[in-house]
Amino acid sequence: MMHKILVSRCLLGHRVRYDGGASGPFDQLANWLQEGRVVALCPEVAGGLPTPRAAAEIPGGQGLQVLAGKARVLTTEGEDVSAQFLSGAHQALELVKEHRIRVAVLKASSPSCGNLLTYDGTFTGVKVQGAGVTAALLAQHGVQVFSELQLAEAAAALAALSW
Ligand code: SF4
Repeated sequence: MMHKILVSRCLLGHRVRYDGGASGPFDQLANWLQEGRVVALCPEVAGGLPTPRAAAEIPGGQGLQVLAGKARVLTTEGEDVSAQFLSGAHQALELVKEHRIRVAVLKASSPSCGNLLTYDGTFTGVKVQGAGVTAALLAQHGVQVFSELQLAEAAAALAALSW
């Protein structure tokens, strides 16, 4: 079977980032798109947030703590957007189950999508180790989560899948 890949929409040039921007293009993602493998999602927009929107961070925690109800996602204006972030993460998980996805490529350092680093909650640009809400939920369910900085690793993981 042809394995599908969950990809952050902003990496596909969709202007869904909080600042109205996008990233890319990335040749590897374009190839996967052409092969019909890509399942695209922006968890924050899917969760009901507008674009552009206020930047958000997770003071005192990371995605795992938000999933456990032990930290909140707050915007620069102090609005609690945890519910929207959680909704987006669970929509990502539904897509993963529906398409039997084992590999994801999500935008680095995002409070939703970051797989290795996120910001520290002080809105000062300081990154700390930890995953965003969606990346953490998918990893909890066995998805191998990579970022746009690890496309070669993502391709290798995809090639190694045995079913
Ligand atoms: S990083 Fe994730 S949540 Fe943020 S714009 Fe990209 S897809 Fe949406």
